[in-house]
Amino acid sequence: MKPVAGVDIGGTTTKLALIDSGGEVEGLRSIPTESATAGEFVERLRCAVQEAAWRVDRVGVAVAGFVNAAHDRLEYNPNLPWLQHYPLRDALEQRLGLPVVLEVDSNAAALAEWRFGAGRGSDRFLCLTAGTGLGGGMMVDGKILRYAYECLGDVGHVIVEPGGPRCTCGGLGCAEAMVGAEAVTTRFRKAGGSAEDLRKVIEQARAGDGRAMRAIEDAGRWLGLALATLGNILFPDRIAIAGGLSEAGELLLEPCRRTFRENASPFASARARVVRAELGWRATLVGAGACAESCP
Ligand SMILES: [Zn+2]
Repeated sequence: MKPVAGVDIGGTTTKLALIDSGGEVEGLRSIPTESATAGEFVERLRCAVQEAAWRVDRVGVAVAGFVNAAHDRLEYNPNLPWLQHYPLRDALEQRLGLPVVLEVDSNAAALAEWRFGAGRGSDRFLCLTAGTGLGGGMMVDGKILRYAYECLGDVGHVIVEPGGPRCTCGGLGCAEAMVGAEAVTTRFRKAGGSAEDLRKVIEQARAGDGRAMRAIEDAGRWLGLALATLGNILFPDRIAIAGGLSEAGELLLEPCRRTFRENASPFASARARVVRAELGWRATLVGAGACAESCP
């Protein structure tokens, strides 16, 4: 089968690459997402695809945020106001001259991990991506679970710290507000550490800096609390943690698993294994390509 083009529209960067049926990524390119208008963004994406001169017959696009029921536009993402409600799929089909499938990024990541990574063989697979924000998708019996707005819902916004900091969603003490990249970095700085971003905090935690280790461990605990709530509702048999925060490995996963077990019902926690995702930054991109396979 011919490879497809996969596009991952993230909050800051849009990645595109060729994705083959084995989930391999080739010819990675990226463009900045931020644009004055959606039309300008589509034009830059068209240029990038055309320059790459890939021989593909369809394109899978994963976008950060909720999509509408017709899967032709971004319904909600407060970080990409200029792209909301714009007929993205049709505009891309017209400009590229190829069929385009539009999917929610967390669904794409869950699909990719289920097919090629940490979710293989799972019947109820929950995949959480913890990076700038916290999102999640779920595969049930090999199908993307679409509960609201074509996805699982805003699972990164379960409350883990009642009365905690105000979240970008408007809530208080959401998991995202506690384990998002900026929150972790800020806590590390408040403890006297110095790091420009999450990656640097993780580096220092790995090197044994106590303050950085605590910042990651705290994130692990809050993530574990989020899993306790989600686990009791969704009963996943496997939970994979993806995204930039998961680069901390066991420094994050050990307190996460412990808190999950301490707080969830034993029935739920005994049946769920918490693992690190395997595809790293490629997951959403590969998933976008995999979604395009289903294109008529
Ligand atoms: Zn929130």
